[in-house]
Amino acid sequence: MPLNEPYATWFEAVVGQPAPEEQGATCADCPMCAARGFDPQVKCCTYMPSLPNFQAGRALLVGGEAGDRVRARMAQGRPTATWLHPSEAEDALYDAHRHAFGATRDVLCPYASGQGTCTIWPYRNAVCATWFCRHDDGPTGAAMWDAAVELFHFAEGGAAVWCAGDGYEAAAARGATLTWDEIRRLGGAELAVREEALRAAHAAWSVTRAAAVDHAEQAPAAILRPGEPGEGVEP
Ligand code: SF4
Ligand code: SF4
Repeated sequence: MPLNEPYATWFEAVVGQPAPEEQGATCADCPMCAARGFDPQVKCCTYMPSLPNFQAGRALLVGGEAGDRVRARMAQGRPTATWLHPSEAEDALYDAHRHAFGATRDVLCPYASGQGTCTIWPYRNAVCATWFCRHDDGPTGAAMWDAAVELFHFAEGGAAVWCAGDGYEAAAARGATLTWDEIRRLGGAELAVREEALRAAHAAWSVTRAAAVDHAEQAPAAILRPGEPGEGVEP
């Protein structure tokens, strides 16, 4: 499953290579249903994401079901200039059901189709984009994605502030002009630390990947992650 934009572009800008795809996270045929009892209609989307303004705006501009979902969420959730958040009640519901991750329809993401797919896939946030239940290269892959979400969640927050002011569609238009170099300048030292962490984690992952290829061996066993998307990341 590839990254959606802008995270795919950001990833390549940071490490100089496209983001790898996790082949074991076969979302269309979700392995967690058999392995962990995930509900096939829910999978890992027992989550209440916040969308940065520019992602919400991209969905509104394109329209269709994604635009309709975002527009509905602007009425049901907590839209601010920078983020489209879940309602406080939805946040509380999510907190109350963390133990049932993947297994309850009570906290099904409002952007989920109900048939195990995401209606806003090209516009999902950094947490959703970088979360995989399995990592082809084991712990070094997990560490790389952890570093990626730390960086991209921080970056999208800064970008949302820069894009804010005239509604979500305008934020999307502004966001489309924002390069990684500009985001780097906006983020300053805090972003630089996270960026370096991703580069280091990617370098470690590259060693693992190269060793697996060179020795024509099976990569370290894929791991199942017990946590939920965004664990430790506060939107
Ligand atoms: S990332 Fe989610 S939908 Fe995709 S395979 Fe893993 S649990 Fe299933
Ligand atoms: S935004 Fe999409 S990928 Fe993220 S939790 Fe909702 S349905 Fe799943």
